[in-house]
Amino acid sequence: MSDYLTDLLKLQALDFNERSEKNAESQKAELRNHIPKPILAHYDRLVARGKKGVALVRNQVCTGCHMRLPIGTINTLMQDQDIQLCDSCGRYLCLEAPVPAPAVEPVVAAKPAPKTRKRKTLAHTAV
Ligand SMILES: [Zn+2]
Repeated sequence: MSDYLTDLLKLQALDFNERSEKNAESQKAELRNHIPKPILAHYDRLVARGKKGVALVRNQVCTGCHMRLPIGTINTLMQDQDIQLCDSCGRYLCLEAPVPAPAVEPVVAAKPAPKTRKRKTLAHTAV
């Protein structure tokens, strides 16, 4: 399900020139091929009105219209069951990718501070 949304988001990025790609047109055509017609039609209607067709959901709030979304909608999105539209602005809702946990870096033993003193910079020796 969410594959469509991923494609829609990519399409939107191209439509709104958020990404400058050399072959944007052919990429758009390809994305459009992946997205079911009814979804595209709705997306196009929004874009035609100068709106973005897909809004990210952040903290249960639609970033398109800043309305809080019903928890049921969030749940459906989280379970990836169905595509959801924002009740307020009619955009497709896409959960913002969860912030990836910071990569666990191996704890490097603190390097002993280098003892070498900084040499005095010879500021006055103009070259
Ligand atoms: Zn909205």
